[in-house]
Amino acid sequence: MKVKIDADLCTGCGLCTDSVPDVFKMGDDVAQVLKADVPANLEKAVKEAAEDCPAEAIIVE
Ligand code: SF4
Repeated sequence: MKVKIDADLCTGCGLCTDSVPDVFKMGDDVAQVLKADVPANLEKAVKEAAEDCPAEAIIVE
């Protein structure tokens, strides 16, 4: 599973970086992806973060 963040949509709310800090970290204004190839043990958490993102900026594929 891969994940990316649409920097044009991200508001920098910090929800994903708080919930899955192993995959997301806060940049200057928007969140960044640390691991574009999501480790299997974090897939569920990343999917939930994508569902919870208020800006729908987290794209999993
Ligand atoms: S939850 Fe969504 S809007 Fe908030 S920092 Fe993460 S990607 Fe950005």
